[in-house]
Amino acid sequence: MLRHARLVLPGGVVDDGRLAVDGEWITELGSGANGGPHPGIQVVDLTGYVVAPGFVDTHVHGGGGASFGVDLDQARHVVDFHRAHGTTTTIASTVTMALPDLERAVEGLSGLVQDGLLAGIHLEGPFISKARCGAHDPALLREPEEQVVARLLKRGHGAVKMVTLATELTGGLRAVRQLTDNGVIAALGHTDSSYEQAREAIDAGVTVATHLFNAMRGLHHREPGPIAAMLESETVAVELVNDGHHLHDAAVELAFQAAGHDRVSLITDAMSAAGAGDGRYELGQLAVQVTDGVARLADNGSIAGSTLTMDAAFRRAVLVNGIALERAAAAAATTPARVLGIGDLVGSLEVGKRADLVVLDESLHVVGVMSRGRWVTEVPTPLTTADAP
Ligand SMILES: [Zn+2]
Repeated sequence: MLRHARLVLPGGVVDDGRLAVDGEWITELGSGANGGPHPGIQVVDLTGYVVAPGFVDTHVHGGGGASFGVDLDQARHVVDFHRAHGTTTTIASTVTMALPDLERAVEGLSGLVQDGLLAGIHLEGPFISKARCGAHDPALLREPEEQVVARLLKRGHGAVKMVTLATELTGGLRAVRQLTDNGVIAALGHTDSSYEQAREAIDAGVTVATHLFNAMRGLHHREPGPIAAMLESETVAVELVNDGHHLHDAAVELAFQAAGHDRVSLITDAMSAAGAGDGRYELGQLAVQVTDGVARLADNGSIAGSTLTMDAAFRRAVLVNGIALERAAAAAATTPARVLGIGDLVGSLEVGKRADLVVLDESLHVVGVMSRGRWVTEVPTPLTTADAP
């Protein structure tokens, strides 16, 4: 039983909130202390602390020095690293690799999806634009041929949940329909689409904008490109990398305003260097130099993923961008959960949903993380008034 917390609920913030957990689930929400001792129940006094829903990251490549790829020990390490920062639901994002390597990575990661450690796999590349490839190896890019897409989905045994592609490539719109027919989210990104092409892609079934603004044709008043098309489409959720480097704050705030209250997904797009300090890293086969927390390709300086964690993205949204707590929580948890089709299970603090939550101090730094009703990072013991009599 968590008591006296500021609860970030879907409808707003409740001060002096009360939240009960039984097993994996949230069983009670309210305010006030609710009548004295609870025999046999551990009571945690969270006066002065904020409780938000566990974060849902739909776009992340690595962290804590490890990456999602063929090495599953590294994949487990990435999940642990981000969970300590409040991410209780994680998608594993791959980068462009040679096809046999990618198939092997997908097959391996699909086992972790079956185990419940991952919520799915997101393929970023190889079906992306050479002109907007960012930190993806241009030599390995390809068109989304039907058999190649089919083989990747098959190797995932249903675990591939999202594919980022440039729909202007030959076969792009057909691939969007192939993905959505298979229950896979089609995300438009790393794209040189015009506004009109992006509209066609949305009509064909695209529902996610992969890191809106980054690695896509820009917004011009006579050529508004994919950014305007995706911001104006009620069916599209837009991902934002809110690390203070990928986007100007005005762009972040513009996206929040234009997309309304429930179409922004905060993502990390983190690579292995997140939480691991500056230095030399690899992203796929490419060398990356991280300086002052900014990851750039060693050879051309192109921005190469982030070193962001979801708690930092959330904190920035509230403290720098002035987004209300409940809207920031929607962007960090509720909307990405809905995008993944698991919004009935996770993504908000509601009775009957999984007890995935983050406890934050007044400056919105993580002090505790609960996943499926168990503390993975326990709130400091002084806060726990121990078992009530
Ligand atoms: Zn990415």
